[in-house]
Amino acid sequence: MESNLIDREHQSIYQTYKRLPIVIDRAEGARIYDIDGNSYLDFLAGIAVNALGHSHPSIIAAVEAQIKKYMHVSNYFYQEPQVRLAEKIKEKSGFSKVFFSNSGTEAMEGVIKLVRRWGFRHDKTDMIAFTGGFHGRTYGALSLMDKPLYKSDMGPFLSGMKVIEYNNTEALRAEVNRKTAALVLEFVQGEGGVVSADSQFVSAIKELRDKYNFLLVADEVQAGTGRTGKFFAFQHYDIKPDIIFMAKGIGGGLPLGAIVVSEELSGVFERGMHGTTYGGNPVACAAGLAVIDELDKGIMENAGKIGEYLYWALEDLRLKYPSKILEVRGKGLMRGLHLSFDAALLVDELLKRRIIANAASGTTLRLVPPLIIGKQEVDELLTALSESLKVI
Ligand code: PLP
Repeated sequence: MESNLIDREHQSIYQTYKRLPIVIDRAEGARIYDIDGNSYLDFLAGIAVNALGHSHPSIIAAVEAQIKKYMHVSNYFYQEPQVRLAEKIKEKSGFSKVFFSNSGTEAMEGVIKLVRRWGFRHDKTDMIAFTGGFHGRTYGALSLMDKPLYKSDMGPFLSGMKVIEYNNTEALRAEVNRKTAALVLEFVQGEGGVVSADSQFVSAIKELRDKYNFLLVADEVQAGTGRTGKFFAFQHYDIKPDIIFMAKGIGGGLPLGAIVVSEELSGVFERGMHGTTYGGNPVACAAGLAVIDELDKGIMENAGKIGEYLYWALEDLRLKYPSKILEVRGKGLMRGLHLSFDAALLVDELLKRRIIANAASGTTLRLVPPLIIGKQEVDELLTALSESLKVI
């Protein structure tokens, strides 16, 4: 192991990340290789980013071709990769307009501005989000989140923002009123412990939206781009949001985010009101087009099918270790094992067995592999999980 590089990292990089003790050499498909030649099976996928796995030939080809044409020209110009990707996202969502950003949190900020401007015209100011939600690290996003670690001694945050209990219909009914401009939610929470919205909760949102006319914002940063077996997680429910925002998977490993809005909202920003130098970078958009092409060729279907296979395998494991595994959560290839103990212990045991996964919300093991995995990789995971649970 190159301890020298780890020491140098400690000396030169601001210590905000808790890294795994692995120095990466290269990565391919669902495997990561360290500089000592060890191979790891990747059930983290760059934190739910590498939908097609690592070094996918279609992404490499698309990126190479685009780099040879132009890498960055700015949003002063019309650029085909942006337009083609926006058209694809419209087709997948049934929405009307796309604004490209560079990350999830940046998309969240744009959404807040859009909601506030829409609210200004409708005499509505307030936004409501939910416990366990994660929307990013910038001030607007943090104002819609509750986890103390992310916010400690950093206030004041934005006013007019409230965080109420996820999946609690009564709390929702108590807090929503005619001043509510928007609700922001993940239909499947990632960082919050891979928790899905209850259908009753979603029905209540629908009913209250009809009554109070607020905007429903779906954070599809982690659960979108095919991860749950449908292109967007909201598509598992009988509801259509007014705004979607996405990032992670859509860039295929390059920084890219998007805000996607309904026709009614397509005129809320006027020219010059919102923008970013890099948003919709043509290389990132070319990668995004390759991602969608491959999803359409059967990878999204695979996420659904293998996701089911993984689910039932994890359920079998739960029956074997009922005091250790309390619940199997999630949809498609966004799965969580809710444990009766600190999930970091299981992460460490899995790492000893060369499987990479991480903990979400303390007691949930999060499994967000590349969407290209097959039964063999799931079986490999299950063997490692079973051995790990025996010794914990
Ligand atoms: N929203 C969700 C659901 C996320 O999981 C994340 C990141 O983990 C974000 C927003 C923020 O995205 P980014 O890290 O690209 O700013």
